[in-house]
Amino acid sequence: MQERKVSVMFVCPNCGKTHFLSNLPESKVDRALNRDDTGEHIQDIFPELSLEDREKFITGYCNECQKPIFNVEGDKDEKD
Ligand SMILES: [Zn+2]
Repeated sequence: MQERKVSVMFVCPNCGKTHFLSNLPESKVDRALNRDDTGEHIQDIFPELSLEDREKFITGYCNECQKPIFNVEGDKDEKD
């Protein structure tokens, strides 16, 4: 089963930068965007995404702005 992959655009509320997450399964994006209604947690929908990427669905903050605010340590770069 090949699911359609979509990109999601975010506007960082801190710096105003537009950033994207791409290649996400459409059904998961739908769940993420509707989670206010369904009560789902973003970490249950996207367990495979990094903390930073999940944060984008929650706050919209870009990577650069997340660093000083959340004081991300260890710098886990889980891109493969
Ligand atoms: Zn930003």
